[in-house]
Amino acid sequence: MSLETEKSSLELYRIRRLLMELQNVRGRGTELVTLYVPPKRPVYDVINQLRDEYGTASNIKSDQTRSHVQGALMHIMQKLKLYKQFPENGFIVFCGYTPSPENPADETLVYYEINPPKPVPTYLYRCDDHFHLDILEEMVKEEALVGVISIDLSEAGFGIIMGDRVEVVEVITSGVGSKHRQGGQSARRFERIRENEINDYFHRVAEHAKRIFIDQYSIKSLIISGPGMAKEDFFKGGYLDYRLEKMTIGFVDTGYSGAEGIRETLERGGELIENLRLVEERRLVERFLQEASKKDGLAVYGLEPSLKAIKAANADTILVSEDINTFRVEATCRSCGYVNEKFVDGSKLYEVKASMAQEACPVCGKTNWDVKHFDLVDYLADLASSIGAKLEIISSKSESGQMFKNFGGIGVILRYRTQQG
Ligand SMILES: [Zn+2]
Repeated sequence: MSLETEKSSLELYRIRRLLMELQNVRGRGTELVTLYVPPKRPVYDVINQLRDEYGTASNIKSDQTRSHVQGALMHIMQKLKLYKQFPENGFIVFCGYTPSPENPADETLVYYEINPPKPVPTYLYRCDDHFHLDILEEMVKEEALVGVISIDLSEAGFGIIMGDRVEVVEVITSGVGSKHRQGGQSARRFERIRENEINDYFHRVAEHAKRIFIDQYSIKSLIISGPGMAKEDFFKGGYLDYRLEKMTIGFVDTGYSGAEGIRETLERGGELIENLRLVEERRLVERFLQEASKKDGLAVYGLEPSLKAIKAANADTILVSEDINTFRVEATCRSCGYVNEKFVDGSKLYEVKASMAQEACPVCGKTNWDVKHFDLVDYLADLASSIGAKLEIISSKSESGQMFKNFGGIGVILRYRTQQG
């Protein structure tokens, strides 16, 4: 897995988690602001529109709703002023007064800004008793991007399969001459020329593949299809960029090459494509299980052993279940700076925070804590990047993902074996 795909798996996880959190948020009135900004919209343009909305909001009859809506709009405008321009894919904001989870009588202003993973399709401003999440939800739907090279000795097509859609990106011709020798040419010379032509052609195919699948689309899997043996010859010849070689999940026999061959690949390679979302994950979990089942294997699991290994910088890959639902609570003594840390299940988070706030400091004896909590996955992401380890979020849908949960939902593939294990 490349660095980019890991990064995006973590980013997607964060967005999905936020979506789950925001799904249940309700305002007291119609006072929660949702804003979707499509690419290339100037910041001042959006601020001007929000200023109009601010004016319109002065007609709201309820004092509390009016002040909450205007407060949220003011807050968003201030945040947007920090931008010269929005990110490439546009911008998304959710903002408004919501009951605090710690004390529902208390309302606090929440503000979330999101750099969208795909281009925002349309401008949307809504003020409602809930946030409008559907557009963002659509963007983070699991959609494996599969590259296809459909190749024979006459042409090669490059395509992308997204879900059940297929896009032909480019088709190149081979320039390889006919299989049949012209009269008067020696057989050996003919063979040599033809081999050279094929070799040049395969190199060109590999160059196009690298540009399209790595620079342009950053695919996660590659299928090579086509009639005859050219697809295998091309793959086995070692022409492909090593990253694409690693992503290759299989060959599909088709009647045609080129554009038609790409469309055929979607029909004939269905099973291969359906499974591949889980293939990467299964490989990882298998590697973990293999190590975990050996007597001196390079794996530990469970929260405490895993954290110990990570803090000792002895982690190659950290695996964590997407629904581990665990938080790190950090209480810092305001008098002496002592830090108390606990890891708790999401269901007990506020209970534990409240009880930690009432403990006496073991160092200075005072009870004056600053209590914060962090999602375990964010905490692990920070630790992982500080020691150069990979962090992999394991879904819970697959069989291997379920199996992994039996190990406490967290495990580490170690860099080296320690004495005491
Ligand atoms: Zn203290």
